[in-house]
Amino acid sequence: MYTCNLERLQEKIDTFKKFGDTGTGGITRLSLSPAALMARDEFAKRAKAMGMRLKTDDLANMYATLPGSEELPAIVMGSHVDSVVNGGNYDGILGVLTALEVAETIYTEKIKTRRPITVMIWTNEEGSRFEPAMMCSGVVTGKFDKARALASTDAKGVSFASALDASGFKGDEKNRLNAKDYAGYFELHIEQGPVLEMEKKEIGVVEGVLGMVNYTISVKGVSDHAGTTPQKTRKDALYAASQLIVMLWERLGKLDPELVFTTGKINASPNIHTVIPKLVEFSLDARHRDPKVIDRVVDVIKGLPAELSGCAVRADLNWSRNTVLFNSEYVDAVEKAARDAGYSWRRIYSGAGHDAQYVAEVLLPATMIFVPSVDGHSHCVEEFTPTELCLKGANVMLNAILEIDKR
Ligand SMILES: [Zn+2]
Repeated sequence: MYTCNLERLQEKIDTFKKFGDTGTGGITRLSLSPAALMARDEFAKRAKAMGMRLKTDDLANMYATLPGSEELPAIVMGSHVDSVVNGGNYDGILGVLTALEVAETIYTEKIKTRRPITVMIWTNEEGSRFEPAMMCSGVVTGKFDKARALASTDAKGVSFASALDASGFKGDEKNRLNAKDYAGYFELHIEQGPVLEMEKKEIGVVEGVLGMVNYTISVKGVSDHAGTTPQKTRKDALYAASQLIVMLWERLGKLDPELVFTTGKINASPNIHTVIPKLVEFSLDARHRDPKVIDRVVDVIKGLPAELSGCAVRADLNWSRNTVLFNSEYVDAVEKAARDAGYSWRRIYSGAGHDAQYVAEVLLPATMIFVPSVDGHSHCVEEFTPTELCLKGANVMLNAILEIDKR
């Protein structure tokens, strides 16, 4: 069994931390921002130093390839270098740095692979500068329309198209990830949840990405004066909304112990402390791997009363996605690599979306490897995974790709 190098991986994490450092322990590295371009330059420099062939596609996704001994499609490892505002040093970037470390191990140990080995960076995964999230894997896999992606603008009114042009990383459409030149895809990522840590497991063997539904529930009441309107005659949309949220928790909570559901966004209007709210809109996000459970969630939402406390209630589906199952041969290769190394592991589903799911759905055999998130934190400065565990993840990825390379 081959192993990656702890000091080298630590040095990579420490170096890339500087690109977008907020001075508070975290980073803000929005897609194609100066900080992200510095991270890309550093990546390119390191890839070239190993003699990797570097390409970018029309969406500035980057591909650095070590040659194989045979003319075969390449095995790809990748993730993203962009972050949310005040994000941490592991989400996305760890997948790129461990992939780079795997490539460096293959290069320095002179490990012979039949297939070329590609390390890639996806542009704009977080969607925190240009919406939507997972934009460029979405375009490459035909999920999103390219023209719409190009027209997406950031908070300053800069379009994704002009940010691409200015980045210096825009290449050719023919360089996109495709099923002819590439054989399969691996993505290492932090878990972004507490399960691995709680169960004292070092590696998450990711079987797929949870299906989900996302609704907006709107409650329409009547605005009146807070001091002069008797309680009995009120049509208070916020009161009705709070009853609905409790109702949803009670009903959804009975469906399945593995179902997760969230109301994370709520808007009350006019949102003035002396005025009874006339309109409240809140979100409902529910996720589960079994589509039958998701169907029951939909039944619960459709079963909400059309009127409550004098207010009209409606639920609109914003979007949904089916559970994506990763390639079983790849999942098994990850499990075998973890087992052979003597690491503790468990099979797990991802509750968060990742570029890997689009790749898996339509393009290539794909899977993911999770490493634990301390206290389950992510998308914040507290995001942390000890380098020893990051290294174990890298070792699993290395040995899983070497296993796939033999076939
Ligand atoms: Zn990520």
